[in-house]
Amino acid sequence: MRARGAGAGTVVVGGGLAGVTAALALADRGARVTLVEARPRLGGLAFSFHRDSPVGGLTVDNGQHVYLRCCAAYRGFLRRVGATALAPVQRRLDVPVLDAGRRRVGRLRRNGLPAPLHLAASLARYPHLSPGERAAAARATLALRHLDPADPALDEVDFATWLRRQGQSDRAVAALWDLIGVATLNARAPDVSLALAAMVFRTGLLTEPGAADIGVPAVPLGELHDTRARAALDRAGVTTLLAAKARALRRTDPGPDAAGGEGGGWRVDVSVRGERRELAADAVVLAVPHDAAHGLLPPGALADPGRLARITTAPILNVHVVYDRRVLPVPFAAVLGSPVQWVFDRTGSSGLSAATAGSAGQYLALSQSAAGEEIDLPARVLRERYLPELARLLPRAADARVRDFFVTRERSATFAPVPGVGRLRPGARTRAPGLYLAGAWTATGWPATMEGAVRSGLAAARAVAPGRGLRPERTEESV
Ligand SMILES: Cc1cc2nc3c(=O)[nH]c(=O)nc-3n(C[C@H](O)[C@H](O)[C@H](O)COP(=O)(O)OP(=O)(O)OC[C@H]3O[C@@H](n4cnc5c(N)ncnc54)[C@H](O)[C@@H]3O)c2cc1C
Repeated sequence: MRARGAGAGTVVVGGGLAGVTAALALADRGARVTLVEARPRLGGLAFSFHRDSPVGGLTVDNGQHVYLRCCAAYRGFLRRVGATALAPVQRRLDVPVLDAGRRRVGRLRRNGLPAPLHLAASLARYPHLSPGERAAAARATLALRHLDPADPALDEVDFATWLRRQGQSDRAVAALWDLIGVATLNARAPDVSLALAAMVFRTGLLTEPGAADIGVPAVPLGELHDTRARAALDRAGVTTLLAAKARALRRTDPGPDAAGGEGGGWRVDVSVRGERRELAADAVVLAVPHDAAHGLLPPGALADPGRLARITTAPILNVHVVYDRRVLPVPFAAVLGSPVQWVFDRTGSSGLSAATAGSAGQYLALSQSAAGEEIDLPARVLRERYLPELARLLPRAADARVRDFFVTRERSATFAPVPGVGRLRPGARTRAPGLYLAGAWTATGWPATMEGAVRSGLAAARAVAPGRGLRPERTEESV
């Protein structure tokens, strides 16, 4: 292990993707880093747990996660922790879209042409829109080029208003824009800031032809974000404290440059498995959810801390069903005209055992975003809603036996991407010297995603480094 920087070192609070990224990036630049995570595992909102199921032991993700090829920072994270091959990206975007009412399957896929022509052929054949709606959708896609996601004026407008101005019908919004937008932004078009929608759709549709190719973990999230991340942190020389909750931050030594320089000492009060400890630091990265940050930030650290309290959150529900046979013939599909939004085959990654589930058993996870109306419904009600629906959508499910059914609920899965949220999101720097923020909710320009979280961690590490004698970052933008 290489020699670490002088001084008390950096404490990173929060072991989600933002915190792990910041810790790795700082360690790579020679900092002495301690990472403090309240839970007994890393990974934050993207994690796995063990379930004793009637079909044997299952490893369950708290919620289906996917990413896109354009998520360069998250792909850098996967590379850094040695997990690229464990979350492969499809060769070319290909999403089967089933219209439950008309019982027709369409496909959103790209060809090898440059953007935006790469999607033109697929859109021209997309059966869920009329020819006029397809032409209008193509025009709206091109109109995205004129939107600058960084323009604060866009953050004041909702996406639905813009879509209407572009001549998009209700059906086009449902069958195309919300189909993608609800899954990536966790809200429907009327509740989405145009700035965030523009960021997602411009990046995914108009940059590189492969930008929207979808990456799906082939292993449980815990393998990527906990096991592999932990090993990478160990190799980088980071001290990781699990089940260690930061209770308070205190500035101990304002130092000569308190007026705005980078000096100053910090104490982080931590309770580690019930035992109180005080960690000294010359820099602290707070990579916790925004409400936790609001509680920990010392007075004066943000010009208007009330803004954090005005950031709201949105839930995601996952419905998990294990069948005694294969019922879904593709790795994943999107659904229209049904309460089911996206359905994923989780058989391989969950460790479902053929011996107990039937030789060809299959485990499906339904990913239900913007789930405000369903998040608190009892599992029994969700079962009565979703099993008949799956039998209607997937003919083979009608005859299959359900071996297990359960739901996972994340009530604060993402910040709500509502118009106006942009001005509530702070950057990495605070007004307190030596104190920095990270988290998907900070001002990354991205919606609450793994990409946003990793970007925020990189931004925080970049803000810490100058003036602390740390090495410059690598030329490649990855951790
Ligand atoms: C069900 C679901 C599905 C999703 N699907 C996708 C998807 O498909 N694609 C995608 O890109 N993104 C998806 N997301 C969003 C993505 O998971 C998050 O944006 C990202 O993981 C947030 O990472 P983070 O590090 O910013 O925050 P978090 O993951 O919230 O990490 C913060 C960490 O801080 C810790 N902490 C809090 N308080 C303290 C304290 N006082 N002391 C110490 N530690 C503390 C917490 O325990 C937590 O581990 C999904 C999220 C959910 C919940």
